[in-house]
Amino acid sequence: MSIANLEHEIADLGGTENGARHLRVVNDHEKVNLPAAERAVRDLLVALGRNPSSPHLADTPRRVAKSFTEMLTPREFDLTTFPNDEHYDELVLARDIPVQSLCEHHMLPFTGVAHVGYLPGERILGLSKLARVVELFARDLQVQERLTVQVAGWLQENLAPKGVGVVIEAEHMCMSLRGVKATGSRTITSSVHGVLREDGRSRQEFFSLTRGS
Ligand SMILES: [Zn+2]
Repeated sequence: MSIANLEHEIADLGGTENGARHLRVVNDHEKVNLPAAERAVRDLLVALGRNPSSPHLADTPRRVAKSFTEMLTPREFDLTTFPNDEHYDELVLARDIPVQSLCEHHMLPFTGVAHVGYLPGERILGLSKLARVVELFARDLQVQERLTVQVAGWLQENLAPKGVGVVIEAEHMCMSLRGVKATGSRTITSSVHGVLREDGRSRQEFFSLTRGS
């Protein structure tokens, strides 16, 4: 399926006595066909002039297929949100969330960190969930720009905060290992919504916090 059609089934699991609300988040990608992937890796080895029957490579197709399956399958999770009873209205920022994704142009990894912040509206969420939202979109064939936009857009839609901002800094193996061989070069992308987009001071605060000390 194409990335543009990526959708996530969200089942409302209902509330609990303390006002917590749980949304089960499930990705609806087609499942990986493991035997077909193994055959394809074996074919790729042959095409690359290697001998997949050699004892050193005998188990490689299985390992590669399994690795790609893992890298392309986000884990299901419950998005738990709570009422913002204290009317907290300052920026909540999770810095340095690990990002591991696969560039869709080369199928090589890009890795780095995401800084995800939001200005709470009616509800707040468990901070660990921000990392799960990043993973939800990162375990895919991606470009960094789209990944950034998807995480911000998803949070805006499902949490309805007053504002949300996402900054991703990542190194792309396709830039480090081949082509320009720009080892250590990091690409920075950002996406902001709501107050973080429209209000100059909030926007500035968000971006200065993501840069750290
Ligand atoms: Zn690439």
